[in-house]
Amino acid sequence: MSEADCIFCRIARGEIDAEVVHDEDDVLAFKDINSKAPFHALVIPKEHVANLEEIGALPDTVVKRLFEVASAVAEKAGVTEGGYAVRINNGRDAGQEVFHLHLHVMGGKRLGMP
Ligand code: AMP
Ligand code: ZN
Repeated sequence: MSEADCIFCRIARGEIDAEVVHDEDDVLAFKDINSKAPFHALVIPKEHVANLEEIGALPDTVVKRLFEVASAVAEKAGVTEGGYAVRINNGRDAGQEVFHLHLHVMGGKRLGMP
């Protein structure tokens, strides 16, 4: 999958609409189109990396921001006190569907594993 075709690259470039909840230079967060919790957002680096095996291509500051933005969007959504899950589906057995690294941020109900 090239960056031209990657759906999350296209959202980051503004070519496909998304319900954006946070936008900054290198990191974007938007609502998951098929939410699995009352609050369900995805946090992505704007630069394309497919998975954790490629995370070394991102500057350390951007990796840190992914987690800070996850916390910030949870706070803004009001789910910090109740708690929330941050999840990365990495590869086939985890059910990864979109091969552009993303953090799921889910809250607003009891979430267990898996
Ligand atoms: P996964 O790759 O398994 O971590 O899941 C990809 C997630 O992206 C799924 O939860 C989808 O609902 C979500 N998704 C796919 N396309 C879009 C889109 N255009 N806008 C928002 N979320 C999307
Ligand atoms: Zn991409």
